[in-house]
Amino acid sequence: MDILGLPRDVLRREFAALHNRPGKGAYHADAVFQTLYRKGIFDPETMEEFTDNPALAQTAKQHLRFNLPTLAGKKIDGDTYKFLLKLDDGLESESVVIPMRKYKTLCVSSQVGCKMGCRFCETARMGFVRHLTASEIVAQVMVARHVLGEPVENIVFMGMGEPLDNFDHVVNAIRILSDGSGLAIPSRSITVSTVGHVPAILKLAELRRNEPHEWGRLRLAVSLNAPDDEIREAIMPVNGQWSMAELKDALQQWPLTHPDDFIFTEYVLLHGINDGPEHAHMLADYLRGLNACVNLIPYNPGLDGTYARPNSDQVKTFFHILQDAGQRCRIRGTKGDNAMAACGQLGNRTLGRKRPALETV
Ligand code: SAH
Repeated sequence: MDILGLPRDVLRREFAALHNRPGKGAYHADAVFQTLYRKGIFDPETMEEFTDNPALAQTAKQHLRFNLPTLAGKKIDGDTYKFLLKLDDGLESESVVIPMRKYKTLCVSSQVGCKMGCRFCETARMGFVRHLTASEIVAQVMVARHVLGEPVENIVFMGMGEPLDNFDHVVNAIRILSDGSGLAIPSRSITVSTVGHVPAILKLAELRRNEPHEWGRLRLAVSLNAPDDEIREAIMPVNGQWSMAELKDALQQWPLTHPDDFIFTEYVLLHGINDGPEHAHMLADYLRGLNACVNLIPYNPGLDGTYARPNSDQVKTFFHILQDAGQRCRIRGTKGDNAMAACGQLGNRTLGRKRPALETV
């Protein structure tokens, strides 16, 4: 069992089992959790709390796995970079470190590849290889903080994969990341971005409602990318499963508990497809009644160049129509595209092609 995949309550249970006495173990479990996440120290034998019980440290090392995946590569574009981690089965996860004004944002992957098939996204072209475990998600943050030394304070699930298609691992990872004894990244600094997986949005909304202390301010981003079903279905096959009306219905059930709470909607601008003034008006109509903030993302080209990015005047026109309609919105600047690290550019087609062989590993 990999320690990085265990929320603190589960770790306490594991330590109770190691002690062989129910009710015992919380002290050592909490010590391991805190030292591991705060200081990046993985070896319990070197932890102060175990000096009077070295046998327990050894037993813990035999039963739990204490290590991080190794860094398999780094691609830098100015102040943004992508890093790859080598996973146990030879696959790689991809993460992107993005500097913001005061801190750094880490864009994490939740899967290797993706099965959603969005036409404009490079990850879709590699296909779905497998889900990442909670441990492999948490490891991306640990490597950023403790190996690369980055002051990461904001996490966005916008890397490879559809996080809500990997619900349990993503939820466990968020529990670990946000635990105040460890990395202590508050839920308001964590954004889960979804293609619009309606049942999972409803499940996450329920968690937020039922456990406000832990999940109260978790941010949701929805990749809308189109103003109506016809356009959306042409570029996002998932729309055939859950229509925009069903999606809006689910979004209306997302609890907003704070004045700064919005539902973020992402809208990739594809020239000639969804970026006309009429589309902006339709989008504003669709979003009416939702407390949403639109992030406009001018298309980042993939390796094939199927779509085109609108010019800055076209982007501004779209933006102003939304603004004049009273819709909160902003334009997301492009970062990392020279390292294939910008939105929608993650993925490794070679690994994707190896998929059948790797799935049997
Ligand atoms: N599956 C999740 C998260 C991964 S994609 C989701 O769909 O939200 C992260 C964001 O990148 C999404 O908003 C997606 O619409 C956007 N994106 C994908 N391909 C893109 C591209 N080529 N250019 C710009 N943005 C893109």
